Amino acid sequence: EIAIPSPAQWVLDKLNGAGHSAYVVGGCVRDSLLGLEPHDWDICTSARPEQVIDVFGAERVIPTGLKHGTVTVRENGESFEVTTFRVDGPYSDGRRPDSVRFSDDLIEDLMRRDFTVNAMAYHPAEGLIDPFGGREDIKGRLLRCVGDAYARFSEDALRILRAVRFSAVYGFRIGSYTRYAMATEARMLGGIAKERVGAEVRKLLAGRYAAVVVRENIAVLNVIIPYLQDILNCSQNNSYHYANVFEHTMDAMAASWREEVFPAEWADEYARAALFFHDFGKAAVKTCDEQGYEHFYGHPKVSAERVDEILRGLRMPNEYRRAVVQLVENHDATLYPSLPSARRWLLRLGEEQLRRLMKMQECDAAAHVASVHKKRFADLKTFSDCVDMVLTEASAFSLKQLAISGKDLLTIGYTQGPEIGKTLRSLLEDVVEGKLKNEKEALLSAAAGMR
Ligand code: ATP
Ligand code: MG
Repeated sequence: EIAIPSPAQWVLDKLNGAGHSAYVVGGCVRDSLLGLEPHDWDICTSARPEQVIDVFGAERVIPTGLKHGTVTVRENGESFEVTTFRVDGPYSDGRRPDSVRFSDDLIEDLMRRDFTVNAMAYHPAEGLIDPFGGREDIKGRLLRCVGDAYARFSEDALRILRAVRFSAVYGFRIGSYTRYAMATEARMLGGIAKERVGAEVRKLLAGRYAAVVVRENIAVLNVIIPYLQDILNCSQNNSYHYANVFEHTMDAMAASWREEVFPAEWADEYARAALFFHDFGKAAVKTCDEQGYEHFYGHPKVSAERVDEILRGLRMPNEYRRAVVQLVENHDATLYPSLPSARRWLLRLGEEQLRRLMKMQECDAAAHVASVHKKRFADLKTFSDCVDMVLTEASAFSLKQLAISGKDLLTIGYTQGPEIGKTLRSLLEDVVEGKLKNEKEALLSAAAGMR
């Protein structure tokens, strides 16, 4: 049931052939037993890092984390992390062990790992090495710590968030003792390096079971996601919603996994993260009229500002942050179902982001009362057809695709400066609106006329 691809097999064979012992370990074993395709094959070995370098030759090996016993071996264009069996020393900064001790014992190496499902190794001749019952836990979809959950979480609090992440991605139920220890130790997450926290949050929001798992782990998430508590308590008594902001958010996230409505190729982590955050500013701008009808003046702008602040705080990559913030900012915008509107939106967001926005709006609409939901679905369908039509017209949608560049403007008497960008932009708008052909001559004569 564990099919090791040949480059990884080659790395194992080289190490085993040189008299060391080597296994595939951790995530790849877990994913294989789950019937999923592992995204990378990590290897653990009795060989010390210098010995690994000896086996493969220095030109194939990158000394990625020598101090922790990890090197990267290159084979056939792929990279494999090879880590010496080790026992972790104390964690004084809650980030990584201060020191590690290398070991000759695979079982010791498996003991330092976080969860039973992550603490299995596999060797083609020896089979599965599973000292803590990881295979049974995978069958029972159960996430448990290796050893005492309290001790493991106080060594490294990031494991608390990893538990939430694995639960959200694979649908594992978290064992009750592990869950109890998570709640008790959750505040320690505040001291964990933000980029480590951010990487887990990103994965967890993209998880198949995120909506359920977020609800079950609010106490943990409250420690690391500011403003989450606000939406939990935020009612929205108006005729569009049937639930408070948090319940609505969870329903919208769950909707993004309804295969029959939202085909898999539409789904992506940006839209899903944006769904989680889309109403984060609502509580801040809520007002109430005499009838008890609630309004949100300033949303979704305030939501977008808060999301930007949260994602910066979690040190998310700029590209991810900008995309998610832009989706949140526009999630309530009317995508008016007409060709000119489709052109304008393509120009504003680009095709990729616009498709995400449409997807997000469908999910959001699915979590509104039926009348809203039906109307929005119908309009989105028409809008989407308009987008497809516009895209087959093969006109330009970004400055890069425009048939002229700033250099061409210089040849007709423009001078270097902001005027160039402004002119190109305005030409692009005319092309997108269908007023001008995306051809060099037409563009140049239009540009000449603009001066
Ligand atoms: P994925 O790569 O799919 O995100 P993974 O389980 O492979 O999941 P990695 O971060 O790649 O996660 O770590 C590889 C292995 O190292 C894990 O399977 C686990 O055995 C161990 N591990 C990783 N992080 C920790 C940690 N904080 N504490 C203990 N063991 C850990
Ligand atoms: Mg991994």
